Amino acid sequence: MTSAMSMTLNAKPPEPAPTAALTGVHLAYGRQTVLDGLDWALLPGQVVGLLGRNGSGKTTLLEAMLGLREAESGSIRLFGETVATLSDAARARIGYVPQQSDLFDWLTPTQMLDYFKSFYPRWNDAKVEGLLSKWNIAPGKTIAKLSGGEQQRLAIIRALAHEPDLLVLDEPVASLDPAGRRDFLRELVDQVLNRGTTVVFSTHILSDLERVAFNIAFLSAGRIALQAPLDELMETTCRVSGPVAAVQALLQSRGLVELRSTALGGGRQQVLARCAANAEPPSSQGDVSVEAVTLEDLFLGLTQ
Ligand code: ADP
Repeated sequence: MTSAMSMTLNAKPPEPAPTAALTGVHLAYGRQTVLDGLDWALLPGQVVGLLGRNGSGKTTLLEAMLGLREAESGSIRLFGETVATLSDAARARIGYVPQQSDLFDWLTPTQMLDYFKSFYPRWNDAKVEGLLSKWNIAPGKTIAKLSGGEQQRLAIIRALAHEPDLLVLDEPVASLDPAGRRDFLRELVDQVLNRGTTVVFSTHILSDLERVAFNIAFLSAGRIALQAPLDELMETTCRVSGPVAAVQALLQSRGLVELRSTALGGGRQQVLARCAANAEPPSSQGDVSVEAVTLEDLFLGLTQ
């Protein structure tokens, strides 16, 4: 085999171009910095739950990503284009459900959807009709008379109808009752999975994410503190506690990355740590204890 051939065979497939790429994004309201040099990439087909405490900047981030709010510095690209000068063709590939949708509430769902249909080159009538009936939305009732949950579902139908390649949902289940939230989100994601749509939805409610988001991004202090597939996160993250020197020695010898450390007093510390993607966390040894973490531990640890 020639060396050129072996190089070709051994070469890794190129990473797909990100659907959204944010680099060094900075955005402040007056003196309050909300996005502080944030880097983020969403790859085609990824389903990402954006997790952050109330007021951490999730809405600001999603709006900036879509060009609805101007960042002071940094670069934001969607489908390879700069967001500030996004082409109509790229715009038509986005579906967005804001926290408060302006649905033209004097119209009926049918009238509103007909109106939006005229703006898009692609529109899936069968999907719209199927979802209206599945989600029990009366197509002829004035939107103002629909419940909050029905209006939220209608906004989602509007965002799915043109089969977007990037679907952005800001707290999409806020108006639904707690019991139905996760199942509805799962169903929503299933709607787009076979098309390879990139999905990002924000939430501050952990239970929304289980069985729904394959990737979780934690927003904290104006940056994405960590993004990884949920199952990988749970398998590779642990809590290490014990005397500082012994904890640090274990982290170093096993190549664990410290995510957050808390002083426990008496020369002891507790560290939330992560090992490499395919490595297993160490076991407890001597004075040092190593425990598994829950998603809640991670949320509390990473979004302080
Ligand atoms: P989240 O979606 O995570 O709850 P937001 O992005 O809504 O967070 O808000 C982040 C912070 O920015 C909050 O402290 C909020 O009060 C502030 N904020 C949001 N929008 C504005 C605005 N238009 N003007 C001034 N401050 C704002």
